[in-house]
Amino acid sequence: MSYKVTLIPGDGIGPEVTEAARRVLEATGVSFRWEVVQVGAGVMAKYGTPLPEEALQSVRKNGVALKGPVTTPIGTGFRSVNVALRKELELYACLRPCKTYPGVPSLYKNVDIVVVRENIEDLYAGIEFERGTPEAANLIKHINGAKKVKIGSDSGISIKVISETNSRRIVKYAFDYARRYKRGKVTAVHKANIMKFSDGLFLAVAREIAKEYPDIVFEDRLVDNLSMQLVKEPRQFDVLVLPNLYGDIISDLCAGLVGGLGMAPGANIGEGVAVFEPTHGSAPRYAGQNKVNPMAMMLSGVLMLRHLGEASAADRLENAIATVIAEGKTVTYDMKPEREAAEAAKTVQVADAVIAKI
Ligand code: NAD
Repeated sequence: MSYKVTLIPGDGIGPEVTEAARRVLEATGVSFRWEVVQVGAGVMAKYGTPLPEEALQSVRKNGVALKGPVTTPIGTGFRSVNVALRKELELYACLRPCKTYPGVPSLYKNVDIVVVRENIEDLYAGIEFERGTPEAANLIKHINGAKKVKIGSDSGISIKVISETNSRRIVKYAFDYARRYKRGKVTAVHKANIMKFSDGLFLAVAREIAKEYPDIVFEDRLVDNLSMQLVKEPRQFDVLVLPNLYGDIISDLCAGLVGGLGMAPGANIGEGVAVFEPTHGSAPRYAGQNKVNPMAMMLSGVLMLRHLGEASAADRLENAIATVIAEGKTVTYDMKPEREAAEAAKTVQVADAVIAKI
């Protein structure tokens, strides 16, 4: 059987790490037919948009995509292609397993946390009012009147939206994932003491759904407390389920627990469609240097293999990556304890080393 998969190389370090991932995936013996599509600033001139319909159609049609990171200009230019892709395809769940492999330079051993992040609403809904615009002035007038508060006229406003429907869907996904992969505990993360009607709703829904899964332990944590506890003793956590913004921040924190962004894979899951991409971004200052760690991207490929039902190929690829890490010879600069770039391997060499162990 051959799988038709959309391949989005992305920009910055994206093309280097996706190429490494493509090579190791093919080395497992699983057959792929890659449909390569481009997105981001580089296609603006040709399509007039950073996210052409052609790219979306390809992912919709194939149902599976392997995606490199894409740069989002800050403050100016278009909104994030990554956020738009998740919204357009309704990729409601973002899955980010964070696991320490023996040999990884990290302060911790035996961490194995799965971050399940809500992926389309919260402060990422893109509902924003720019300071000084008539829309912002109208909204401020309305809120000041309705709530007897005094929002200054020089304020910019971003709206936080948490719905029962999306909370239900993401919490259910986290519990179903826990059951499928035999995980013991789900922790819901929130700030419901302050944001009673948004995070409070998320927590209420989580508590209700937890009752349907008596075989899985449920607990909740305030996001600030969770951050401290993760740094102090991360091994107490198993599956975390979070609204979008906390999920974004906590996944980077968890990546830091297991060796950094070069080791943190991810998947964006919707109904009948899944996009596999690392947690890290396009790290523009390293672009084209053949220097960065391709393992987060390769491990995203492992998640893709499991999604396709290719469990044995997934195990072989994951074991090959783990062996290369444990040997510590052919790893990139970020995996060297002293970060000695001179003795660090190049991106391409890491892929060669992994292929040799498959
Ligand atoms: P980043 O993840 O690109 O890089 C932060 C730092 O992490 C880098 O400078 C580097 O030191 C390290 N790093 C990242 N990936 C690494 C790897 N594979 N190997 C070794 N070290 C690695 O974050 P940023 O600088 O905040 O974002 C850069 C751009 O990427 C921004 O435009 C941002 O919007 C975008 N971004 C895209 C995605 C995505 O496509 N899903 C995700 C996050 C950020």
